[in-house]
Amino acid sequence: MSYVVPPAPQASVPVAGCADSFPVRRIYCVGRNYAAHAREMGSDPDREPPFFFCKPADAVVPVAANTTREVAYPPQTANYHHEVELVVAIGKGGSNIAGSEANEHVWGYAVGFDMTRRDLQFALRDKGRPWELGKAFDQSAPITPIVPASLCGHLQAGRIWLTVNGQTKQEGDLSDLIWSVPETIAHLSKYFELQPGDLIFTGTPEGVGAVIKGDLLVGGVDGLGELSIRIA
Ligand code: MN
Repeated sequence: MSYVVPPAPQASVPVAGCADSFPVRRIYCVGRNYAAHAREMGSDPDREPPFFFCKPADAVVPVAANTTREVAYPPQTANYHHEVELVVAIGKGGSNIAGSEANEHVWGYAVGFDMTRRDLQFALRDKGRPWELGKAFDQSAPITPIVPASLCGHLQAGRIWLTVNGQTKQEGDLSDLIWSVPETIAHLSKYFELQPGDLIFTGTPEGVGAVIKGDLLVGGVDGLGELSIRIA
């Protein structure tokens, strides 16, 4: 078979500590999964069921360990925000996955930034429209190499943080997630059949804010290393 236009390259993220890569199939994102961030977005942080949105697989911007990668300031926004998140890489697919078995479906973990055109997101949200223009744009998902769960274990607690130009802007702990990783996988897999290659951005702690050209963003999760980008 031949294609009538060139097929897109397979989106992928390197695996930490080796030459292999993790092929990205879909990117699912959880909205408002830390109570203090839900409040700063103007929501009630009560334990409503989690909600999800997606980014395209090729929104990933893989950033090698101990390097800084330039990410372009995106068009059509004047309020470009950082959101540092724990990212879960799915290694085994499934539907209706039980929370008690969810960790068996996790291949590894990474640190990601759910970059957001906040002005567009809020305008869409306020009109009840889909969030793609605010969330699913090109280069909206910078990410570190994926650390295999066989090396780092299944993360339930640990500091998650982000600095801009050396100043701490976001700080939280994975234990503050409203919906834990296993609970998130259980919910999401009721609606979609998860597949190997899926990534789940699990939500951001409070302290999101705008960045401008030239800013250096460094984020991290205990045990996973740091993600560093410069806005170009
Ligand atoms: Mn987010």
